[in-house]
Amino acid sequence: MRQLRVGDVTVTSIIERDGPWRTPAAMFPTWDADLGAEHIAALEPEMFDHASGRMVMTYQTFVVRTPRHMILVDTCTGEDKELPPPLDFDRQPWRDGFDALGLRFADIDYVFCTHLHFDHTGWNTSIVDGRWIPTFPNATYIFHRREYEAWERAALDPSDPQARIFAMNCEPVVAAGQALLVDDDYALDDTITLTPTPGHSPGHCCVEISSRGQRAIVTGDLIHHALQVSDPSLHTIFCWDPAQAVTSRRRWLRDVVDRDIDVLPVHFPHPVVGRIVADGDAFAFRYRRGGHD
Ligand SMILES: [Zn+2]
Repeated sequence: MRQLRVGDVTVTSIIERDGPWRTPAAMFPTWDADLGAEHIAALEPEMFDHASGRMVMTYQTFVVRTPRHMILVDTCTGEDKELPPPLDFDRQPWRDGFDALGLRFADIDYVFCTHLHFDHTGWNTSIVDGRWIPTFPNATYIFHRREYEAWERAALDPSDPQARIFAMNCEPVVAAGQALLVDDDYALDDTITLTPTPGHSPGHCCVEISSRGQRAIVTGDLIHHALQVSDPSLHTIFCWDPAQAVTSRRRWLRDVVDRDIDVLPVHFPHPVVGRIVADGDAFAFRYRRGGHD
């Protein structure tokens, strides 16, 4: 997907990293190799690297341009965060992708984070003279209040791995007065709204885009990989409340199945955008090939 049009809104993607990543067994604690093999065989070819047995996963930011606002949804892992390998991605592809869109950091009006994990908040901040400050000086950052407060509590324990991420990527935005902590019914306007889908994290949200009767949904980590569409019970090793994550995923899949809704999962590889379709009693993810640049 180079550019998706949703009514008067356009969505583009800035890719930070791409390619084979984890095996399903390493990602999903309840992975069943026999049942899983059937689901792997039914995947879109871009989604799985058969040579290595690993899922293909992308880290990307969506740039949402509405008639009124320039918005980023989720900001990858960022730069200078000193993440351990293999998470120490090269910063340059994201910077180049941002520049290629003709954007400057000052152009961004809003940053939405579907949740506050390290790979969705990285470019929120940059380090200047030893201090973390918001990367986008004119942006309001939208964090879900329940999500922010949960990680704020967790960060009281400095041994919590999230504590360091929170201190780098989230807290400085609030300290700078650039964050807006929002509740379940938040709407920026009639084009951009949030849908709570908790479980993977305490206040995980999808970002909904509606314009001229067309709809698209940025699904954050509600689905990491299309295998979780084939089998919604697959929660990940990173889920905060696995049972609730599964409940949110099932409810959402039932809501969007076989509808004209473009689905934009943050970790899906090119061409990214697709639809949820019925597959007997279950679901499948199908790329929407064509219909976008
Ligand atoms: Zn993620």
